This record gives sequence, structure tokens and C-alpha cells, in this order.
Amino acid sequence: MGRMSPPDGDIAVFLHCLQAVCGELLANEAELSALDRAIGDGDHGANLCRAAHALLEAADDLSSLPLPKALERAGMLVVTSVGGASGPLYGTMLMALGRAWPQDATAGAVADVLEQAMEAVGRRGRSTVGEKTMLDVLVPAARAFRESVASGSLGAALQAMVDAADSGLAATRPMRATKGRAAYVGERSIGHLDPGAASARLCLRAVARVLCESGSKELRS
Ligand code: ADP
Ligand code: MG
Repeated sequence: MGRMSPPDGDIAVFLHCLQAVCGELLANEAELSALDRAIGDGDHGANLCRAAHALLEAADDLSSLPLPKALERAGMLVVTSVGGASGPLYGTMLMALGRAWPQDATAGAVADVLEQAMEAVGRRGRSTVGEKTMLDVLVPAARAFRESVASGSLGAALQAMVDAADSGLAATRPMRATKGRAAYVGERSIGHLDPGAASARLCLRAVARVLCESGSKELRS
């Protein structure tokens, strides 16, 4: 399999992804906050909307940078614009992606970096899969992408990623939260989806949609 996109097209694809992700976050503010009201403090939607506004405002500046620097800068913006726990975690993911972005961005090389970035989130949050957090979507989605990219087309790998994100989100419902604010409600967190897992799924879906479209393929919904 070839590169994810032509080298000089990387930043254009990044901008499309950024716009798609921010659009999803803004459109789903109410839903994300409702999920956070059930097991947290109800601000997850608002937190990520602040990040989305900061990113959209900076989009022009970001697009003048080489892709790795743009990713790092975007991560810093997310950290500084979000007060809640999710800001430093999503920021860490973007900064880790930027720092390790491969010179030759083949799908396989990007898949490895993506998986490392998800591990960096776990280190930052001192958390792991199974604790009812965004990691329950991010980690299996990155793994599915890496495993599928080795054997199939980019479209199939993106489909595998969004499918894993869907099941990762659903898997958070029966879990008892042991990290973040939801850990305080203990047993009462059982039966609810994790808000961070829901936002992670939205973001990954938006990125996958853009990458599929730029490869003229469609994702199953
Ligand atoms: P806060 O909890 O500070 O109000 P948000 O509401 O924006 O921040 O984000 C909550 C989400 O952040 C949770 O649903 C969970 O997915 C994620 N999260 C919180 N703590 C951690 C952690 N230690 N590791 C991974 N994810 C976490
Ligand atoms: Mg919250």
C-alpha cells in the first residue's frame, strides 16, 4: 500500500480532517454533555467545543506549518483551551502524533505512530483499556487499523478502525469507571456510555470519512 496522501497534500488532508472533527464536536455538544451529566460534571461537550473553536481559529496558521509541527501545535492548543481532563489527554495524543510522524507517511508507518500515540494517552492518564475512558475506543481502533492495514486496502483498514471504535464505545456501557471524575460515582457509572469514549469515536469517524473520501471510498455507517 502507498502513502496516505501525496507529501504536499498532507497538510490539506490534515485541514480537512481538522474541520470535519471540529464540525462533529460542535454538532454533538449537547449529546456529549448529556453523557457527562450522567456520570461526571456535564461539561464534556462544552470542553471539546472550546477546543474546536480554538482549532478552527488557528486553522490558517496551522496550515502554514509542516504536518508534524501542525499536529504538535494543535495538541498544545487543545491542552490550553480545555479545562477538563480530556484536554491534556487529547492534546497528548496530537503532540505524540506530531513528534513521531513518519517522514515517509505510508499507511503502515502512520498506523504504528497512531498506536504509540494512544499508548502515550494511557501513560498521561495513568489509565488502560477497561477503565471506561476514551482509551476503550482509541486503543482498539488504532490496533484494528494497524492490523488491517498490513493485509488490506486503506479503505478496509479505516472501516476496521471505525468498527472497532463503535464496539469500543458500546463496551464502555457495562464497565465501572475507575479513572477520572466518573470513578467517584463508582457502581452508578455502570449502564452509561463514557463521554470521552463517545467523543473519541466521533473524532475517529470524522477522520476516517475524510480519508475515505480523499481515496474515493465510502464508509459503511
Ligand atoms: P472532566 O472529567 O475533567 O470534567 P471531561 O468531561 O472533558 O473532563 O472529560 C471526561 C472524559 O475524559 C471521560 O469520559 C474519560 O473518557 C476521559 N478521562 C478522564 N480521565 C481519564 C484518564 N485518566 N485516562 C483516560 N481518559 C480519561
Ligand atoms: Mg466533565
